[in-house]
Amino acid sequence: MALSPLFEKLTEALRTLPGVGPKGAQRMALHLLERDRVGGERIVSALAEALEHIGYCQRCRNLTEHECCAQCSDPRRDDRLLCIVESPADLLAIEEAGGYRGRYFVLHGHLSPLDGIGPDQIGLEQLEQQIVQGSFSEIVLATNPTVEGEATAHYISELLTPYGVNCSRLAYGMPLGGELEYVDGGTLARAFTGRLPYSSQ
Ligand code: ZN
Repeated sequence: MALSPLFEKLTEALRTLPGVGPKGAQRMALHLLERDRVGGERIVSALAEALEHIGYCQRCRNLTEHECCAQCSDPRRDDRLLCIVESPADLLAIEEAGGYRGRYFVLHGHLSPLDGIGPDQIGLEQLEQQIVQGSFSEIVLATNPTVEGEATAHYISELLTPYGVNCSRLAYGMPLGGELEYVDGGTLARAFTGRLPYSSQ
């Protein structure tokens, strides 16, 4: 039973968020109304501002409220490296891991013909322009290790072949600190395929 039509409307809206079911939405709505109306106002204004101002970076399609995102505007980054990711979340994960200091390109998805997502929907024309205009020596295909992610990486590597840039794919392997017997078969198989020379020196 619903408390009121407006309460119902609020919980329905909260359920738009990923991972939020009916119970969670109800708990959030009650929390905001009963204990934190100021917090609720803050969410409303931050959300309105973000929706109005955040768009795509003109160079790499990352999310930003500026013409160019923070990664594209940073002059200290390596202009010869370009890392292609499926989502801004992947970009953030790579940034947080550290170690990579090149440029990015964000696809906002992967090729999925059955869902009507083709090269145009993931910005491949813009990517091609970047390759033509830039001076990249290596393209890191960091799409997800899923069927669609692999297919997308393959498509991009073929698309970029005429430009003569080297493409690389992220290595897959054993999780650090993990134990062999608990690693899933697919990961173990890929770890074997991608094994590296080892020396005790
Ligand atoms: Zn950018």
